[in-house]
Amino acid sequence: MERNYLSLDQIVTKVYHSRPSWNDKKVFLKELTFEILQRIGYKFSLTRPTPVEKLRILLGLDLTFSADLSGDAHSTKKEGGWEIAITSDQVYSDGSQQWLTERGRFSLAHEIAHFILHYIEEELTEIASTLRLSEENAEQLCDLISSELLLPSGPLERASLNDIPALGAGKPLHRESFLLSIRLLENLRKSLNVSRMALIYKLDHTHILDEAECGIIISAFGVNRSTGRSPALRILKASIPSWGFMPENARVSTIGLESAVHAFNVLKYGETKQWKERLRVSERPGMNIGNKWSPRMLDTWGEHALYRFTARQTYLMTTFKWSKNQ
Ligand SMILES: [Zn+2]
Repeated sequence: MERNYLSLDQIVTKVYHSRPSWNDKKVFLKELTFEILQRIGYKFSLTRPTPVEKLRILLGLDLTFSADLSGDAHSTKKEGGWEIAITSDQVYSDGSQQWLTERGRFSLAHEIAHFILHYIEEELTEIASTLRLSEENAEQLCDLISSELLLPSGPLERASLNDIPALGAGKPLHRESFLLSIRLLENLRKSLNVSRMALIYKLDHTHILDEAECGIIISAFGVNRSTGRSPALRILKASIPSWGFMPENARVSTIGLESAVHAFNVLKYGETKQWKERLRVSERPGMNIGNKWSPRMLDTWGEHALYRFTARQTYLMTTFKWSKNQ
């Protein structure tokens, strides 16, 4: 089998020379990843997943499934080739074809990222050393590349609420009463075939949340990064409109989200519950007043849903309305 169907060499060089210099290698890797996807015919859409399996084939990488690997996946450099192994529980068959699960897509994207980094380091040594690709933690860079392979952040930031399936074709939205609901978010992540966490993280400060005038809070117990375990329910991640600020790691009680603790205790996995409360938030009052935040009490409402994060950890997802002018 011919090794390189896709000329990675040419794509990396082109993206590298598209700017006089790169202050941030992460920006370079994001642009490179999106360019690679475009080269294999991908057009950004909120209605279908990125073609990571096609990319693997066009890069000439082998894929095997194995019941016993030490982790979820790993790569082996072979004579004239590159083999990716993924555990067999990350693939399923519909009778005629094999499909990767959402976790399988993540594992594959991560291993493709290892290949891309390895390729630049081996074949494009000058670019690799100017960008200092080998100095940093390779795992972090691979996570960045794989997250971009699964959901490119550039086009996602520019996407509109109307691009969300089931919304675009519908009647005009009543902004005041519209909520980016748990059900909508679930449909969206299924269309994109990405994990719930990956989607929520990437929605932060996007045009979609601005237009929807909605926010999403992920909270969990025991995530205090400075003191270790915590008996309080804390904000793990808040993805909110661009005019807002919500401190990560804060106790949910400090913003007034009292209903969260109750929801955490009574909800079953995947079950949704509505709430109505007064939240304490921070808002940028105007475009020209710099980056100063001013406090605001938000009379608002939304939904809670409980999900499993790992076998041992559970998190609460909260959606809510955050209109700039109420
Ligand atoms: Zn890795």
